[in-house]
Amino acid sequence: MNAQVTFKVGDAEYKMQFDNDKEMELLHKMIVLSNPPKYCNECKNNEHFKMDANKDKEGNIYINVMCKKCGAKAKLGQYKSGSYFWHKFEKYIPKGGQQQSQSDAPPDIDISPEDLM
Ligand SMILES: [Zn+2]
Repeated sequence: MNAQVTFKVGDAEYKMQFDNDKEMELLHKMIVLSNPPKYCNECKNNEHFKMDANKDKEGNIYINVMCKKCGAKAKLGQYKSGSYFWHKFEKYIPKGGQQQSQSDAPPDIDISPEDLM
């Protein structure tokens, strides 16, 4: 099954396509995705955001919203039950440059619900 969602973050428009047979999970993902965080808890910015998305070889999509003011990122997380949520914004702390150099390795995604608190 294919589904597509279009949404805006800041002044850019994003189009994403999903390939997924778990329809409820897909629907929930689309709803959460189309409502990205609009407030940076790090610097109080509420208008300058940019979205990053990567796809790995298995077709999993990894998504971040980045605050253009302070560079903090909010990751899209997933509960074990399958539902999605946005993490709070966190400042990026370089760890030996692993984020940028290994483009074919998916970033680690923290999916524990405790991170919401
Ligand atoms: Zn910020």
